[in-house]
Amino acid sequence: MSNYSIQQALAVGASALTDTSESPKLDAEVLLLDCISQSRTYLFTWPEKLLTDEQQAAFLSAIEKRKTGLPVAHITEYREFWSLNFKVSAATLIPRPDTETLVECALDKAINKQGSLLDLGTGTGAIALSLASELPLWQVIGCDFQQDAVALATQNQQNLAIANATIVQSDWFSALDAQLFDVIVSNPPYIDEQDPHLLEGDVRFEPLSALVAPKKGMADIEHIIETGRNYLQKKGWLFLEHGYDQGQLVRDFFAKMAYKDISTVKDLGGNDRVTLAQWDPD
Ligand code: GLN
Repeated sequence: MSNYSIQQALAVGASALTDTSESPKLDAEVLLLDCISQSRTYLFTWPEKLLTDEQQAAFLSAIEKRKTGLPVAHITEYREFWSLNFKVSAATLIPRPDTETLVECALDKAINKQGSLLDLGTGTGAIALSLASELPLWQVIGCDFQQDAVALATQNQQNLAIANATIVQSDWFSALDAQLFDVIVSNPPYIDEQDPHLLEGDVRFEPLSALVAPKKGMADIEHIIETGRNYLQKKGWLFLEHGYDQGQLVRDFFAKMAYKDISTVKDLGGNDRVTLAQWDPD
């Protein structure tokens, strides 16, 4: 029997994943592309092309892994974010499309030619490195508490050849020099530890330290808002990603800490996702 064609492989893969995944077709496409090292258009330009023995074996093994629930990004070890290719591992959160909303909001306010930007809990470095790539004259620091994340983000910085970013180990602000930033961004852990969605899908394979925070998910957000006041330039901006139901709580806490110009931006799915505010103490 000859090997599968691309079209057959996609159909077999998608049907094998219908019970496991909410996006079986897309998963099969991403896994097949990884096995044949081609760009996406190739799949639809050459549907009749037969897989080699090695490609077919690699694809079927990837499908088996995905059937155990393992995230696609952990199988391919890469995830695209902001059109850049990030290496991922089980040490950090997998970058999500929703987080591109945070990058967009920050770019919107980073209007000065030069400036300084801090990303707290950088993980893969997705936010820090995307912003650094868009703001070549800015100095960007990405920090993370986890040494594995620091190593991964540093590797991504080198792979993407981004010169204007530094990755450092720090538990939030604690290891930073006394420095004031024009912009601070963070996608901190914000899920309540009782949230049932932690038992489903990709999050089961991601570190709880990147997902869950005390006080119904608000503890780290509150710490960043409160302490951020000591690290922001006058008229500097703080941007936080948060849960779809935390917009009001985050706005209220920004107001309590005397920030100004507080607003919430929705993600592509129409949910509250990012709240920003300005530190303008006078
Ligand atoms: N948005 C992610 C999720 O709900 C969580 C990201 C985070 O905790 N920072 O899966």
